[in-house]
Amino acid sequence: MSTIAYTCPCCGAPLSFSGASGKLECAACGNSYDTEAIEAMNPAVTDEGPAFDLPKEEFNQEEAAGMHAYLCEGCGAELMTEGATTATECPYCGSPAILPDRIEGGVKPEKVIPFTVTKEQAQQQFEEYFKGKRLLPNVFLESRNRITEMRRLYVPYWLFDCEADANIVYDAEKEHTRREGDWEITRTEHYVVRRKGGMAFEHIPVDGSVKLDNKITESLEPYDLSAAVPFSPSVLAGALADHADVDAAECEGRAMERVENSVSQAMRETVVGYTRVNERSTNIRTEGGKVTPVLMPVWLITTEKEGTTYTFAINGQTGKLTCDVPADKKKSLIWGGSVFAGAFGIGALALWLLGQLGSGTLLIAAVIAAIIALIVVGSLTAQLKQAVHQNAAADYVRKGSFKLDVSYDRFLYETTKKRKIETGNQNK
Ligand SMILES: [Zn+2]
Ligand SMILES: [Zn+2]
Repeated sequence: MSTIAYTCPCCGAPLSFSGASGKLECAACGNSYDTEAIEAMNPAVTDEGPAFDLPKEEFNQEEAAGMHAYLCEGCGAELMTEGATTATECPYCGSPAILPDRIEGGVKPEKVIPFTVTKEQAQQQFEEYFKGKRLLPNVFLESRNRITEMRRLYVPYWLFDCEADANIVYDAEKEHTRREGDWEITRTEHYVVRRKGGMAFEHIPVDGSVKLDNKITESLEPYDLSAAVPFSPSVLAGALADHADVDAAECEGRAMERVENSVSQAMRETVVGYTRVNERSTNIRTEGGKVTPVLMPVWLITTEKEGTTYTFAINGQTGKLTCDVPADKKKSLIWGGSVFAGAFGIGALALWLLGQLGSGTLLIAAVIAAIIALIVVGSLTAQLKQAVHQNAAADYVRKGSFKLDVSYDRFLYETTKKRKIETGNQNK
């Protein structure tokens, strides 16, 4: 005998099982349901957190002896490089006050993606950036000293692998509208939909550096991991590497957020044919988790303008640039305003020529003009390549790993609404 008290999805009253019909019946509204459909709506929740095998390997004595460690007095960054490279300034803050430190503990990177973008190429990318950007704040136009020092930095990332299984229940509705005389009749069919399945993810990157905003590091994606080489101190020659100061366990949450968003989206895409679909309950589990520590190549430029520090970062493997330069507010307003005025003027003129000028048609013209203005300002803002979070992990799904184990759609009950069609009142 089941101890779970089920309630009616239509009216919320308690359901009772009828031996005669073999169904769960509602005495309040008269609907009856298959036990299976009601059970599908209320899945048992298994609550297991993601279990990842965290990397533990530390530098061996030989490696530690072949490396220098530094501590930046300016920003506190802990950096390392190979024995023959001397660091003269901090790649994050530019401070020359970097003191020798000791390699102590810390997880050893397993792989390194070497730099393929040269300093000259990175510099060119950076200079190109300032061309043709209409919403660029004036501080970047006025100063001629644009070429700031570019610093070669290996950024620590944790790469997450896992298999994710989702069990999602949706409330779905199909709506049918018909007309009977003066009445509009809307019939809504309510369904319970369940999807169970999952996919495997490989190498979702999360940076382990406190100093760099996650928006910046996520915008530098993707990296091509096939070019990675095993870690050795010599790979770091001529560059500084940051020591991961956010450990893998702390980064796990960010990776999981992206996994969950991608899995829910993939499952949602299999729910088709409905007017409305709402997630009722979501249960996502991950297993077989593995974390790989790697170093990724980044050209970093920090520049101070009128008391604000701006960060530019270029992917040292692909040349992709991102930054935290905001769109100039005044310029955005001027652009938005002029585009709106122009589009609205043309619209109004066209309406006048067509003899359709009226408050209703003008309002439509204004809405269209506003949309055009937003699109123009949006695309001008996009030119600034502002760093944004990557909220899903679709790029990291292992090919062919998507599976759908349960695909269940079941009709529950229907509701009908009648609405009197008002006619002729617009003329009054
Ligand atoms: Zn009911
Ligand atoms: Zn520093």
